Amino acid sequence: MRTPAYIGRFAPTPSGYLHFGSLVAALASYLDARAANGRWLVRMEDLDPPREMPGAQAAILHTLESYGLHWDGQVERQSQRHQAYAAQLEQLLQLGLAYACTCSRKQLEGTQGIYPGTCRDAQHAEADAAIRLRVPELVYRFVDRVQGEFSQHLGREVGDMVIRRRDGLYAYQLAVVMDDAWQGITDVVRGADLLDSTPRQLYLQELLGLRQPRYLHVPLIIQPDGHKLGKSYRSPPLAAEQATPLLLRALRALGQAQPEDGDYATPEELLAWAVSQWQPDNIPRCLTLAEAQLR
Ligand code: GLU
Ligand code: ZN
Repeated sequence: MRTPAYIGRFAPTPSGYLHFGSLVAALASYLDARAANGRWLVRMEDLDPPREMPGAQAAILHTLESYGLHWDGQVERQSQRHQAYAAQLEQLLQLGLAYACTCSRKQLEGTQGIYPGTCRDAQHAEADAAIRLRVPELVYRFVDRVQGEFSQHLGREVGDMVIRRRDGLYAYQLAVVMDDAWQGITDVVRGADLLDSTPRQLYLQELLGLRQPRYLHVPLIIQPDGHKLGKSYRSPPLAAEQATPLLLRALRALGQAQPEDGDYATPEELLAWAVSQWQPDNIPRCLTLAEAQLR
């Protein structure tokens, strides 16, 4: 069997500007792809128009370019992929693998986010209902290139997951798995906040007969009290004129070598140097907030 060449991607959600955490993820994904002579794609995960910030798509692409992170091919947008998602969803419903759920937020209070299966056999109409995917009572595990072995029992720790929301919007979990396969992605390099989404994505890949990419989740950022930094944490947007110092800081956060001043004049030259020095084995599993921000 022919092994496909490396294809990586950066998949920002345009709900806001790029911030330092997303730069670290974009940089790691870019360097890993270029060091493997691979392609590097950008995909806009614009599935949720109400949460999209006007101008964010253009601003994100502009920041990537001004930081020297040039992508291959055209930017794909999930907003253009609704037909594919709808067809897949329809098939899952017909196979009885997915079902309509009419539970209100109030009814789900006290379930700690793990759906108790209330509507599994209720045969609700699909219009004006959320669509949930049944998950098996099984453990899904994988070995992350940085975080090591990670596993979850889908039934106990996740529960039947929403793949189309009640308002008709498709869920990230379904779209990301379909699009990574559609674009031939071999390597997913992304933020550690998505580590615990990966087992349910492995299940979706298995169910849909899709190839499983390799995974690398960049460091978790740990607060001084040892807790993970939540999704709500957002560092300020990245200014174009800060490209060099912030790329250097992001390289440090990734445990990579630091260049001498003479080694580069532009962000592109800095990145070319960083590609030649790329050592994914040196990426730390976690960082304190101070290490990530202040060094
Ligand atoms: N769109 C997701 C985010 O910005 C990333 C998805 C992924 O890399 O799998 O958090
Ligand atoms: Zn329900």
